Amino acid sequence: MTRCTTMVSMRILLVEDDHRFARALGAALLRAGYAVDHAPTAQAALAAPAADLVLLDLGLPDADGTEVCRQLRERSDVGIIVLTARGEEHERVTGLRCGADDYVVKPFGFPELQARIEAVLRRARPRPGGVHVVGRLRIDLDQYRAYVDGEPVTL
Ligand code: CA
Repeated sequence: MTRCTTMVSMRILLVEDDHRFARALGAALLRAGYAVDHAPTAQAALAAPAADLVLLDLGLPDADGTEVCRQLRERSDVGIIVLTARGEEHERVTGLRCGADDYVVKPFGFPELQARIEAVLRRARPRPGGVHVVGRLRIDLDQYRAYVDGEPVTL
């Protein structure tokens, strides 16, 4: 089996006060090749080093996870996936509106979570290089060149 993306160096901050759940999920994330930091409280989450993606439980002992989400979103574009037992529609809407990129209701299967993590990481980190074509314009970011109708443009 081949994996379509390499995520070996991606760092995930797991914000979860349920230690048993955090241990199980943390182990699965490590097996999947991610580096994992665990924060059991809102305060620890906000003090944690920058991560590539945050998995955020909403029911935390010291503050609501939506508040953590808002504060993280104010200072960075880090990918945030809310993990919660709150599955009602208005709760999902609140979760997404606080700035989360995705919302997964417990219980969930790890393959689904992993696919969602990969999707959020793909969106959060577009490859900077490559060739982009817009109408007659072709921009080659690897070569720092631009062309209109195939003719080089002086930038
Ligand atoms: Ca909780």
